[in-house]
Amino acid sequence: MFYPRLKQNSDQPSQAFEYPTSKVVCVGRNYLDHAKELNNPVPKSPLLFIKSVNTLVQMTNPQQIPLELVLPKGLGECHHEVEIAILVGNELSHASVKQCSSAIAGVGLAIDLTLRESAAKPETTRGSRGERAKCFDAACPVSEFSSLEQIDSKQSINFCLLINKKTVQQGDSRDMIFDIPYLMSNISEAFTLQAGDIILTGTPAGVGPLVKGDQIELCLQQQTQATALIV
Ligand code: ZN
Repeated sequence: MFYPRLKQNSDQPSQAFEYPTSKVVCVGRNYLDHAKELNNPVPKSPLLFIKSVNTLVQMTNPQQIPLELVLPKGLGECHHEVEIAILVGNELSHASVKQCSSAIAGVGLAIDLTLRESAAKPETTRGSRGERAKCFDAACPVSEFSSLEQIDSKQSINFCLLINKKTVQQGDSRDMIFDIPYLMSNISEAFTLQAGDIILTGTPAGVGPLVKGDQIELCLQQQTQATALIV
């Protein structure tokens, strides 16, 4: 079981959320620049897929020794997709945009790790594209979650991924094709979101492979939120 962790104020250690995660709902191509870099058409409604709970691993905060992350071997490039992660605070079924806005228990960051070859070639001996490409163990490292007040999200939420201290991906929630409350409401029309579920809201441009030795740092509103090391 995976319990998302809530960031506390001042120097208090993070605390486990009261509900475990039952699923991670991911949104594909929610930023124009990323849809273009993969030569994919821009979706007319949110593209959804699920990452299973075995993919969840807790990334460390900057005060801790970085999480050591092992990537699958012999399966081609494993790409990073940094995304804003939303922690669902209460059950949502056919929920309005307004209900969804008030059901956000926290905002964090996640890396939607993707075996790009498996994702691109559905007809290979590796079989179906989604699960092999997206659901291997530890394919979804997540940060601690901050409250909306802690990150001052009134204007927008900006975020970035640094590898070996170089910025490789940066995004801002205002560039999303479908905004966060709309996504939550739209997902809740398709199936029930439960307290503890996590939504990954899509990745901006700049995806690329990770290799052994890479030092990873994720920033939310210009603050380091999580770190990891590829071993
Ligand atoms: Zn993604």
